[in-house]
Amino acid sequence: MPAVPVPPPPLLASHAAVRAASAAASHSRRARLAGDKPPQVGALRRGDWVKLICGASFEDAADVRNLSLVYTLAGVISPIQHTKLDGIHLRITDSSVFAVDCIDCAADASVVGAVNEGIDVATLIVPAVQRPWVMVSVNDDCRDLHFRKAEFDPEDCPLDCPKPCEKVCPADAISLERVSVGGDHTRSDPLHGKYEGGVITERCYGCGRCLPVCPYDRIRAVSYVRDPTMTSELLKRNDVDAIEIHTTGKGTDMFNTLWDSLSGAINNVKLVAVSLPDIGKSTVDFMNAIYTIMEPHFQGYNLWQLDGRPMSGDIGRGATRETVSFAVRMASMSDRPPGFYQLAGGTNSYTIDCLKKADLFQSITLPGTATSQTIRSRQALIGGIAYGGYARKIVGRTLRKVPVQFGCVRIEDHPDHLLEALEEALSLVGPVKGYISSSSKPIMRQADRP
Ligand code: SF4
Ligand code: SF4
Repeated sequence: MPAVPVPPPPLLASHAAVRAASAAASHSRRARLAGDKPPQVGALRRGDWVKLICGASFEDAADVRNLSLVYTLAGVISPIQHTKLDGIHLRITDSSVFAVDCIDCAADASVVGAVNEGIDVATLIVPAVQRPWVMVSVNDDCRDLHFRKAEFDPEDCPLDCPKPCEKVCPADAISLERVSVGGDHTRSDPLHGKYEGGVITERCYGCGRCLPVCPYDRIRAVSYVRDPTMTSELLKRNDVDAIEIHTTGKGTDMFNTLWDSLSGAINNVKLVAVSLPDIGKSTVDFMNAIYTIMEPHFQGYNLWQLDGRPMSGDIGRGATRETVSFAVRMASMSDRPPGFYQLAGGTNSYTIDCLKKADLFQSITLPGTATSQTIRSRQALIGGIAYGGYARKIVGRTLRKVPVQFGCVRIEDHPDHLLEALEEALSLVGPVKGYISSSSKPIMRQADRP
């Protein structure tokens, strides 16, 4: 089970400088966006909404906390004003208060606590920063790939196996150690040893990459469905703003059942997202059927997450094609259901350029519609992008460098690493928000050091 999050640490003295500069700089940005309330909805309407996906099954509270902190501050730094954080120059601009709009995490109380702790620490560092919505992800069908965990018994692993499972796992969720049994083990005497460890359950997010690489077919995937009663309890918390329901498109019965069980709590959240794959010609009919189930009972905003190639954004350029193709097809459908539309599944640093080529980046359509009302205002056809594996990978590279000294790592205690992580996060969030162009690298450099 994930560790219980610890309370935020005292504010570092050096963060006060960041806070002061940002508060002054943020005024004009806030004034400009005052007409869009809540600001997350403004972002969806403009087409610059960004969601961080921590992973529907990723439950490592320490990593989730640090990721949430970094991506909440991802827009803090831009090249106009200068301040200092522990001897390192930061540049802070009036576009500095908006970073990700939403952080999507497992529907688990510890994980939700970790996300909120990360956001809390970010707002202690820069109080003017926009607090992202916290979204919990659930499924109506155990066949959804996001809701599974890899499993195997390490004692079944032959000692001469080169452990490709460990190498291929993008989450460092497999750890195997060879230990001696019954006397000193030597390489030439493999019978006197065994493997210990296996899958670190809270880190496994079900990507499935370890399954085909095992030469002995020892790994199995165990699927599950999030408990709707526990989910309802989460929705009643005042630190949960949105829910995402993953559905496989294989029929509406399971969605209907889940929707019924959440009905007592669903209006506690501001937004309901439905994540679904492209199921071809019947996609729009299926979406309209889902919309018909939701519409009479929900008073908030609704969003469609177009899930292209699940959990693949860290693989490379090709991974993003499916979600952009999905968006192109939806854009051509006049009978698509009301609501905001957002990309996911294979999203990475190439997604913006692909969307631009398809003429869908922040392009406008009429009219925009929310679940319970028709909004006669202009609205971007694609409201934004959700980043998962790629977002975790680029910041995770830095998180892994932080020395583990006293148990749980707090990225804010290591300003050099925090800056490096912010640079990575900004390289992804910045192009969507318009802070930096999609082809440029972000602006913090070690050369900025005095
Ligand atoms: S399913 Fe993916 S995340 Fe889980 S252990 Fe296998 S490779 Fe790692
Ligand atoms: S690849 Fe298969 S046999 Fe080899 S260590 Fe991993 S799970 Fe065990």
